[in-house]
Amino acid sequence: MIVMKFGGTSVEDAKAIERVISIVKQRRAQKPVVVVSAMARVTDQLLAMARAAGSGDRETALQLSRGLRERHYNAAGELLGTGVFTQFHSELEGDFDALDELLRGIAAVGELTPRTSDNVAANGELLSSKLAAAAFSARGVDATMIDSRECLVTDGVHMRAAPLYDETNARLKEQIVPLLDQGRVPVMGGFIGATKAGVTTTIGRGGSDFSAAIVGAGLGAERIEIWTDVDGMMTTDPNLCKDARRIKVISFDEAAELAYFGAKVLHPATVLPAVQKNIPVYILNSRNPSCEGTRIAARAPTCRNSFKAIAAKKRITIVDVAAPRMLLAHGFLKAIFEAFDRHKVPVDVVSTSEVSVSLTVDSNESIPALAADLAKLADVKYEGRKAIVCLVGENLRETPGIAARVFGELSDVKIRMISQGASEINLTFVIEEQDVPSVIQRLHKTFFSELDPAVFA
Ligand code: ASP
Ligand code: MG
Repeated sequence: MIVMKFGGTSVEDAKAIERVISIVKQRRAQKPVVVVSAMARVTDQLLAMARAAGSGDRETALQLSRGLRERHYNAAGELLGTGVFTQFHSELEGDFDALDELLRGIAAVGELTPRTSDNVAANGELLSSKLAAAAFSARGVDATMIDSRECLVTDGVHMRAAPLYDETNARLKEQIVPLLDQGRVPVMGGFIGATKAGVTTTIGRGGSDFSAAIVGAGLGAERIEIWTDVDGMMTTDPNLCKDARRIKVISFDEAAELAYFGAKVLHPATVLPAVQKNIPVYILNSRNPSCEGTRIAARAPTCRNSFKAIAAKKRITIVDVAAPRMLLAHGFLKAIFEAFDRHKVPVDVVSTSEVSVSLTVDSNESIPALAADLAKLADVKYEGRKAIVCLVGENLRETPGIAARVFGELSDVKIRMISQGASEINLTFVIEEQDVPSVIQRLHKTFFSELDPAVFA
């Protein structure tokens, strides 16, 4: 069997769902299990209405809900024949009435708990999976909607619940295998689950890829297909460099390094359950299904190019912490990281010397308060409008002199921090945001002018 996961844009309206049906039809013989996200932007809207209700603004919450109701009715109307639609319409009506009831309840209490937030958010995937399953059946693909809350068992940490694998795997086998044996296509929502006691949970934003990996790993899938709206992973951002090319195959480790830069393409956590079972993951384009996409494999084949990809992330702030009096003292880094922890600011790149530390964070409004806190320990400066550039490739581990080639190429560029992570497959440095396009184009020219045809398209 295989797992086919379709993201929000791949199920955003009736046309998109029709594309999904024709893609799945071509894979019938391989026993697909379909995992869908909520329709594009629906989770954002559900969370917005939950927050509005939580702040006591019942009208805004209900108005947002009406918009969603309409969008789902419209898609269903276009996808289903009149007969099926009438029955389905009353089912949807029941679901939206229940959602509105919940929103009124939240507004009456005037408080939104994480548990209730999950209850609201789960509607996106419940609706999209129900709609997709009905549309499949209407187009001659016998499909069964599976309520993911009955198979994906999690702990009780709302909004970022972790799967309980033994329980989940047992339930997946129990519920899904018989359907596959009957030649049916199970359709389930990603992102959502429930505790052993049946309380609805969600596994973190963007979590449908993770759901697909959990399902694929639990059922021993031959492969997992992540269908999205791009042709796969690219050597660099095509908006920055017109010579960007598709990467045909990349290792799990390389993909994980890149995930931070291209989270839009692949959620990093997807990697884990699949890596452990050696299941290949494909990134494919539902708008261009004949493109072979990118295969993510446990180990990438040898590649003649030094790197697989160059990525950049803008909107970065550097925080410099210097404390000459800390020379030879211990506990300095601990105290610094505790301050970041207190302000819940995640750190990305770190470089240190004996008496100073530079760290990068995504620019955000917590930084001034964090800096004020750090100023109790040391001299602190922070500066925005920076960018992280990252070159990724397994060959970095074994090839001497690569760093010299990279920085030799950039001898006129102001480089603020340099870091080569413990994984030894990424070379990361920080530059001024405005230098990103030229740096990316120059490095791409240097390292990707000749491409290994086994690895790049
Ligand atoms: N619908 C969820 C979200 O937007 C999960 C997903 O799309 O992967 O975060
Ligand atoms: Mg996604």
